[in-house]
Amino acid sequence: MQLETISSISTPVGEGAIAIVRLSGADAVEIADHLYKGAKKLDEVASHTINYGHIVDPDTNETVEEVMVAVMRAPRTYTREDIVEINCHGGIHTVNRVLQLTLKNGSRMAEPGEFTKRAFLNGRIDLSQAEGVMDFIRSKTTEASKVANQQMQGRLKTYIEGLRQRILTVLAQVEVNIDYPEYDDVEEATTAFLKEESAKIEAEIEKLLKTSAQGKILREGLSTAIVGKPNVGKSSLLNYLIQDNKAIVTEVAGTTRDILEEYVNVNGIPLKLIDTAGIRDTDDIVEKIGVERSRQALKEAELILYVLNNNEPLTAEDLEILDSLADQNVIIIVNKLDLEAKLDTSTLHSRYPEMPIVRTSIVEGTGVDDLEDRIATLFFEGDIQSADSTYVSNNRHIHLLEQAKAVISDAIESADMDVPIDIVQIDLVKTWELLGEVIGEDVSEQLIDQLFSQFCLGK
Ligand code: GDP
Ligand code: ZN
Repeated sequence: MQLETISSISTPVGEGAIAIVRLSGADAVEIADHLYKGAKKLDEVASHTINYGHIVDPDTNETVEEVMVAVMRAPRTYTREDIVEINCHGGIHTVNRVLQLTLKNGSRMAEPGEFTKRAFLNGRIDLSQAEGVMDFIRSKTTEASKVANQQMQGRLKTYIEGLRQRILTVLAQVEVNIDYPEYDDVEEATTAFLKEESAKIEAEIEKLLKTSAQGKILREGLSTAIVGKPNVGKSSLLNYLIQDNKAIVTEVAGTTRDILEEYVNVNGIPLKLIDTAGIRDTDDIVEKIGVERSRQALKEAELILYVLNNNEPLTAEDLEILDSLADQNVIIIVNKLDLEAKLDTSTLHSRYPEMPIVRTSIVEGTGVDDLEDRIATLFFEGDIQSADSTYVSNNRHIHLLEQAKAVISDAIESADMDVPIDIVQIDLVKTWELLGEVIGEDVSEQLIDQLFSQFCLGK
């Protein structure tokens, strides 16, 4: 099948010193040659070389841009087609003109994700790798990009292939038993074998699914609300974490009225921080809006940092709010440790045994390391740094794995109830198919189109 040659700007527009116009397809070199003036014609240069020259508008003979052009011949390319990359200086205007010239001279504008789609269609990468590319583009911290990177390199694929192979082995073994019964209770023995092996596979799928919560956090960030009464040091903490002055720090109670959102990298975990106005009853309307939004943010937060002032006694209001947070992930921060202790933490210990308590002094910069360690412990048992396991972080994969788990659970249950073996076999085949969908076997064309259209343009 011969696909049209496509082109697009493959670097973020307006960012970076260099912008690349990328072409892929059988006519890529010819089209580029039509626009390019250099020492040699591009169809004469060796593959995988970069060549200095100029882009000249063939209609007007006007020199448009000074460029470096990379020529990469199929099949050793990202898409397994001929690829030409025209490196421009990056002024948005000229880059656009170069792109327009390629379009005018025989290529078509690439759809979002179309380069990666071709890499997939031409068998260069599997679907989970392709999705890894997409996650990589969006990932927010280096830890998150590591996960996406592993996926891109086929880690999940290898794991899933291993599982599928095991299912096939089990099915083959069952066939052998049924076809060549050596003893009388073969049916019973086979059922027991099936059940045992299915349980192992189920456990593996479950293990994989458990990583999904962590994978999601790495990819999307952990939404974190900093709450507490006015003036306890919420904004100071936020600023300390961001090490930047995006939130307003003020000595006047209740003046941080806007909810600010910032990402901050804590031990490799991207926290999506929401600064909230102090939670308390108030007559001030502007402040009330802030308070209303705070309560909402609180409900949606995956992590709540509840800040108290070491220099003030615990109030009934604090207890009331903390009570309402009983089933959320809360870390209590006793701040202003540098001031005289007037807060009795023993009440907190006994009333909220589940909530870790961290003592800080933001002005002196103490205790924040401890807080960061607590966060890592709470969500990753502290070992996020390794990021070594295979993480599942993609919703489509999670959904398929959940289905696979449900089907194999059925198989185990059926085996338990002495359902005929071939019914159990059918469930195992179904599990095998669902796992196959994760790595892109048997996925419908429509699904593929939908997936790749989510990519950034130019990838
Ligand atoms: P928020 O209203 O909870 O956001 O509190 P802010 O962050 O605006 O802080 C209120 C005041 O407390 C400011 O003057 C801060 O400098 C001060 N503050 C914050 N943390 C500490 C601390 O650990 N010790 C002392 N002594 N003051 C602090
Ligand atoms: Zn504040």
